[in-house]
Amino acid sequence: VTTLQPGQAPFQTEILTADGDGIEAAARLLRSGALVAFPTETVYGLGADATNDKAVAAIFAAKDRPRFNPLIIHVPDRAAAGALVRFDARAGKLADAFWPGALTLVLPRLDGCPVSLLASAGLDTLAVRVPGHPVALGLLAAAARPIAAPSANPSGAVSPTSAGHVVQSLGGRVAAVLDGGPCAVGLESTVVDLSSDQAALLRPGGIPAEDLEAVIGPLVQPDRDAGAPKSPGQLARHYAPRLPLRLEATEARPGEVLLGFGAAPAETRLNLSPEEDLAEAAANLFAMLRQLDEQDATAIAVMAIPDQGLGRAINDRLRRAVTPPGD
Ligand code: AMP
Ligand code: MG
Repeated sequence: VTTLQPGQAPFQTEILTADGDGIEAAARLLRSGALVAFPTETVYGLGADATNDKAVAAIFAAKDRPRFNPLIIHVPDRAAAGALVRFDARAGKLADAFWPGALTLVLPRLDGCPVSLLASAGLDTLAVRVPGHPVALGLLAAAARPIAAPSANPSGAVSPTSAGHVVQSLGGRVAAVLDGGPCAVGLESTVVDLSSDQAALLRPGGIPAEDLEAVIGPLVQPDRDAGAPKSPGQLARHYAPRLPLRLEATEARPGEVLLGFGAAPAETRLNLSPEEDLAEAAANLFAMLRQLDEQDATAIAVMAIPDQGLGRAINDRLRRAVTPPGD
């Protein structure tokens, strides 16, 4: 097996037949840190080892996403989900009723959860799902680790429902596509936030909200309920450090801790990437911000990051972290 490094695009995209050998080969690629597109019952997903920061950064690079939005983490069963997030009674009922299936649950991350902070965009909640497609379930079991997977299309393009769609739009940017034929649902998963007492529908999808309400009672539905936030984006909190951020710093002022990039002054506490590798910087971003946020300091000063490729998503997140939560 060739070991492909994330970010080593463009390369030849391998098309794997979704039989036992193909699934094993795809699982090996995922474990080596490469990107593999695979079928689910909703759409094709662009998968990466969710515990590998660099592999997760490669998802954002391949999709050319201008933002780090949180990704759905795919697991083969409820027990695997229970190793990552804290279930309550509502989550247990919904998982019993709809997993495997087109339902994503947003739940609090467990202490010591091994999933990359980049995959949840720095949040202390995690979106988890057990997909209802035999090929996806086989791949997740063979990979034996949680797999982060947004839809396998470039940012802004429509979601792919066949292996051919994926090759057309992401060919050369993914190591392999596991071809399991067309997807049955074609709609994305329904996303429900159970991280607070008030269950909320974050995204309508393959499982109707009424079916969920029949199991756990009323959901806050932004499209329906007056006074509720109007878009999923307004419901999803964004990670923001406790300390203020100062961007495009060239040095640490008294009381500040400096987060470096590239050649940095001696007082730099942590460096996102001494070699100016934007994928490495993305991989380190949330973990380093969290570490510096625990310091006894007045502010986190961050050196300038080039506004290209993954640097755009890094800068987007830094700029929004400057704005206090609630704004
Ligand atoms: P995609 O993976 O592109 O299908 O989209 C994932 C969806 O799940 C988006 O609507 C995200 O905002 C949502 N999501 C994922 N993780 C979280 C989270 N921790 N909190 C809130 N929403 C999330
Ligand atoms: Mg999508």
